[in-house]
Amino acid sequence: MYRSINTMTWAEVAKLDPDSVFYVLPVGSLEQHGRALPLGTDDLILSTSLEEMSRHVELKNNFLQLPNLHYGNSFEHLDFSGTITLGCACIAGFVEEILASMRKHGFHRLVVVNSHGGNAPIFQAYAQEWEQKFGVRVYNINYFGSDFFVEAQSLLQTPVNHDIHGGEIEASYLAYALPGVFHAEEATPENDVFVSLKDYYYGWLSRDLSPDNGLIGMASRATPEKGRLLYEYVWKKLASYFTEFDQAR
Ligand SMILES: [Zn+2]
Repeated sequence: MYRSINTMTWAEVAKLDPDSVFYVLPVGSLEQHGRALPLGTDDLILSTSLEEMSRHVELKNNFLQLPNLHYGNSFEHLDFSGTITLGCACIAGFVEEILASMRKHGFHRLVVVNSHGGNAPIFQAYAQEWEQKFGVRVYNINYFGSDFFVEAQSLLQTPVNHDIHGGEIEASYLAYALPGVFHAEEATPENDVFVSLKDYYYGWLSRDLSPDNGLIGMASRATPEKGRLLYEYVWKKLASYFTEFDQAR
């Protein structure tokens, strides 16, 4: 079963067998996404995809979704208005407080679902330390900064490793899922920015790569139809991960 912990009483949580429980922590961001997409793009994609998945997936264990962390590690976008960033130490500390609290009640598995590439290295770096220190197994799904979208390549014109920020994937997804927040008139070829990131330089800032609009990708290629296919892809991909976790011992 997959449900929101927000809607449960403490007594309902207390009677669950801890060995049947996975906590789920969605982590997004509040950061510029070019001129066509809103600051909450990662957060909106995260919430809609998890909600859609929860309507379909069948799980024998108890997956309890915690409230989202709506902010992320977004220093690369901090030159653009509205962006709020948390430092790596803050995010790690936040998760550690959750781990300590859940461990107090005997819960020992956490799934982090992260929709912002800039957060991914934090969870990858800490997972082993957290397991040792807290006795909590941390599973981590990263939409970006991983191969999550590799199998969606046939749906896209842009190579997935070049669809870095606010491009074809995110713009299409929101054009379909939440059309009211997508500014199609700003998703023009003139605003597209195609960049090859060098793997020897992780310090890139969007002000250097895309000073005029912040986009790093090809949002002009976005269509609601692609978005519909990506929407299906994302929730089904999530469901496949959760089904796998459901069978883990
Ligand atoms: Zn994003």
